[in-house]
Amino acid sequence: MAELALKKEQFSFIDEYRIWSELSQAQHPVAKQVEEVLERAREKKGLTTLETAVLLQNEDKELDEAIFEVARQIKLEIYGNRIVLFAPLYISNECGNSCSYCGFAARNKELHRKTLNATEIREEVQTLEELGHKRLLLVYGERSDFNGEHYAKDVETVYSVKSGKSGEIRRLNVNLAPLSVEDFRILKGSGIGTYQCFQETYHRDTYEKVHLSGRKKDFLWRLYALHRAQEAGIDDVAMGALFGLFNHKFEVLALLMHAQQLEKDFGVGPHTISFPRIEPALGAAISYTPPNPVDNYNFKKVVAILRIMTPYTGLILTTRENADFRKELLKIGVSQMSAGSRTYPGAYRDSRANLPDKQQFTIGDTRSLDEVIFDLSENLAYIPSFCTACYRLGRTGDHFMGLAKSSFINKFCQPNALLTFKEYLNDYASDRTRASGQPLISRELLRFEDNSRCAAVEARLKRIDDGERDLYF
Ligand code: SAM
Ligand code: SF4
Repeated sequence: MAELALKKEQFSFIDEYRIWSELSQAQHPVAKQVEEVLERAREKKGLTTLETAVLLQNEDKELDEAIFEVARQIKLEIYGNRIVLFAPLYISNECGNSCSYCGFAARNKELHRKTLNATEIREEVQTLEELGHKRLLLVYGERSDFNGEHYAKDVETVYSVKSGKSGEIRRLNVNLAPLSVEDFRILKGSGIGTYQCFQETYHRDTYEKVHLSGRKKDFLWRLYALHRAQEAGIDDVAMGALFGLFNHKFEVLALLMHAQQLEKDFGVGPHTISFPRIEPALGAAISYTPPNPVDNYNFKKVVAILRIMTPYTGLILTTRENADFRKELLKIGVSQMSAGSRTYPGAYRDSRANLPDKQQFTIGDTRSLDEVIFDLSENLAYIPSFCTACYRLGRTGDHFMGLAKSSFINKFCQPNALLTFKEYLNDYASDRTRASGQPLISRELLRFEDNSRCAAVEARLKRIDDGERDLYF
């Protein structure tokens, strides 16, 4: 088995020739072609790479509006008006790699370096819990002495912190350097949710150019990271590309190829896709003038097409984007958002926010978690969700996909979103957020079609008012 994996890892499944030839085949598509693809898209079965290329190459603004509309519809039908919220927790900005776009790069001598110890991790987690967070993403630079055991210890430390009435982290995802299968197995044993690793760019020559030194220079080691995680039993894996490094159409098709390869090899695609855009970072010249910048219009189109091409894969949006744009992207496809984020180790306990000599990149949406939730509830009638039920009940990987692919997802997701929102309102919300959120929950209950489910949710909401916590379906 190990030998087989070794052989497999010697070639790339990203077929650059096919990507370019499909992009060229779909160049200047006529209206009929685009409409046919959109017709197929409405079936919510996803798209082929060629169909995706047709949408990416569309130049007709009216048809772009049709693309946005289909994405909006799919988003609404599958994910409703829920949005899952989380925060990143930076544990270390020490890094042995020199990625030309990142403030944490080893060659950046101006950066103040820090790795949190267990006490400092506990303090950060407690601060986040006291704000109401339940889902965190641990983030690390790549240090050669960090192995599965090291990460697993940190994960256990985070899970051990309890505070207040319902203060606890119920799902911890990680974004860290690719590991060996053995190290992934140790990590899995610590109880992580999703393993997330972005390929940054799937274009091999560009990858070579922007990764100046360190372990990360090895394109294939990174490309197969999610395969190794799957082999180790981590069945929720998350991919992404850093937009701005190379042609965005190429990256979207490559993301789809990566998703298809995982589906082929493990019977399950990625749990989520991320699409960070390069933000200015201290000491990283390329981050101020990215070689292939994607403007807001094209970025919105990328998000809509991701939604259409992989309808059941979560789409994650971070605070790299500003508040107004995030709201726009939310409607056309995003299903998870970070909120109240800070991007350096120790940042949540630091009263001086967003220090350029410490953080990884500049933040676009600097609102607090409560401000984000108020805005979602008051202005968009969106239900913020801290739900972690699927992961805790073993509804992950292909099991989760099976559920997601049936409409039964509404049986779990909407009720659980309401229950976690209610907990937030009772325990952490500001007065104005509580005043906005309570009536929103009541309005949502009226929309339930299944009366018995509605009654079950009402009963649980009442139990939360009576002091019970952590109720889910
Ligand atoms: N060090 C690990 C790695 O590179 O996989 C994980 C942590 S790294 C801090 C997380 C992600 O941040 C990277 O995968 C990259 O996509 C993103 N990133 C790095 N520099 C960035 C920048 N200037 N703007 C936006 N995102 C950036
Ligand atoms: Fe290190 Fe990750 Fe930043 Fe690259 S992106 S310099 S690996 S922290």
